[in-house]
Amino acid sequence: MKAIVVRGFGSPDVLELKEVPTPKPGEGQVLVRIHAAGVNPYDTYIRTGTYPHKPELPYTPGSDGAGVIEAVGEGVTRVQPGQRVYTAKTLTGAYAQFALALESQVHPLPDRITFSQGAGVWVPYGTAYHALHHWIADHAAQTVLIHGASGGVGTAALQMAKAMGLTVFGTAGTSKGIDLVEREGAQQAFLHTQAGYQEQILDATGGRGVDVILEMLANINLAQDLRLLANNGRVIVIGNRGEVTINARDLMARRGSIHAFTLWSITPAEEADIHAGLFAGLANGTLRPIVSKEMPLGEAARAHKEILEPGATGKIVLTT
Ligand code: NAP
Repeated sequence: MKAIVVRGFGSPDVLELKEVPTPKPGEGQVLVRIHAAGVNPYDTYIRTGTYPHKPELPYTPGSDGAGVIEAVGEGVTRVQPGQRVYTAKTLTGAYAQFALALESQVHPLPDRITFSQGAGVWVPYGTAYHALHHWIADHAAQTVLIHGASGGVGTAALQMAKAMGLTVFGTAGTSKGIDLVEREGAQQAFLHTQAGYQEQILDATGGRGVDVILEMLANINLAQDLRLLANNGRVIVIGNRGEVTINARDLMARRGSIHAFTLWSITPAEEADIHAGLFAGLANGTLRPIVSKEMPLGEAARAHKEILEPGATGKIVLTT
């Protein structure tokens, strides 16, 4: 089979398309014929070797794939060959034509969701679900700002927050992104590349502030976010790429708080809840992953460059 293989950490050019043996499923394992693999920003952090999670070399990247069960190992009862699935982590990496996974790492993919869309489920929608369902109480009363709403996590959070009946604001860096953010559920969208856009957000709340901010780039926005919060408001940090200085008085004045998580740290019970919720939303059409670009597997290096460039409009996926 063909797979992307990383032999040494470094620039996107370390992502090489190679011919490697197709793995065989052992006890409790399944082999998935991957049709599409999702490219996430954290795949690029891991590739550089600077992320806390560092795989043993050589490795094949990718936690998010979608395809069909090719074969199952002994003792597997929950899925069968021929079944459409998405992966939430794998044993051998999703940037490949086949991936080995634990039975517990594959989840049914509703028929209405294409494989390319399925490749954009786990990390983006799992993250959005955890933030919106496990970290926020009193849903209907809340105003949520999705700060960075045009990318994978942002579009997932928009669709979900809208379905939950929240008042949703979103930001994007381009006019194409703004159109997408409005289309996917934001009552109002703001251009985060425009000077003074934070004032516009406060004005949109009548000066009250927002109850929750889902923050995709805390190192740039966290200090200013605290001044956008309503009383008892909270920032939930999802993305961060560096250090930031805040003034704690901005929190004190509003009884505000900052929370943060990674998908690595969720509990098994939370993960089970996430997959149940995602299946229901994908099956009933509430959740519709937005694919911005499909690239052949061999162009993984280009995908890793483009995912970090401004102007997101959904997910980049690799097709096999
Ligand atoms: P993505 O698809 O590349 O989207 C990035 C988003 O950030 C886009 O909406 C982009 O908007 C926006 N952005 C860029 N500059 C911004 C700014 N100055 N202020 C606010 N937003 C800005 O990435 P993603 O998959 O949605 O992930 C978003 C972030 O969350 C990444 O840093 C990722 O590593 C992190 N993440 C964390 C977890 C976790 O477990 N905590 C899980 C998933 C993702 P424009 O391109 O329109 O400017």
